[in-house]
Amino acid sequence: VPVFSQTATTPFKVATEPAFPPFEMTDQNTGELTGFDIDLMKAIGEEAGLKIEFESLPFDGIIPALQAGTVEAAISGMTITPERAQTISFSRPYFKAGLAIAVRDNNNTINSFEDLKNKKIAVQIGTTGAKQAGQIEGVELSTFDSAVLALQELVNGKVDAVVNDAPVTLYAIKTAGLKGVKVVGELVTEEYYGIALPKDSPYLQKINDALERLIANGRYQSIYEQWFGI
Ligand code: GLN
Repeated sequence: VPVFSQTATTPFKVATEPAFPPFEMTDQNTGELTGFDIDLMKAIGEEAGLKIEFESLPFDGIIPALQAGTVEAAISGMTITPERAQTISFSRPYFKAGLAIAVRDNNNTINSFEDLKNKKIAVQIGTTGAKQAGQIEGVELSTFDSAVLALQELVNGKVDAVVNDAPVTLYAIKTAGLKGVKVVGELVTEEYYGIALPKDSPYLQKINDALERLIANGRYQSIYEQWFGI
């Protein structure tokens, strides 16, 4: 005789800022979260036996949520920085990125980071791009809740440049059909994304082990190829 059985495990809440394609975004047809980070985190959940439940938050609300313990982890294209590592813990790196400069197609005067002095720049609030751009001499910074909105400001001619994660800006141009914008110069930084956890989370080891297994068994590679090609 079947008795009432509790099979569901406690959800493992993972925060993400859902407007950072192709890492995290909302599928237009299903309304579900999708993207490289989302697929990777689901795979980690399967590997580690965690019931992943995503929670959308503004990017600058993610670290406070981890500190308050309202979420167990975050995957959000978040760069591992020494400054952040003082307040939260990071998994091993899972993606190599870096900041790129984007300008309008017809701009021939901005070709490098040095050329950004005294310019108007749009950035996403709370990001490494915002920090880098904020250090430029004479810069006029406009901050937005998402990278997509910052890029739109550039298209609209309201700013001279956007400083944002290269894979996201390139995806917007090459895949999402963002028109009239190009990437110039070298990458401004080399950055590595990590899964963020509350400081000294008991799940850190589990998540690192799962990531290692996904890299070793080829599943990481197939998720990578699905979103970025070969
Ligand atoms: N990688 C950048 C950072 O960590 C941007 C992340 C994001 O906007 N989701 O600040």
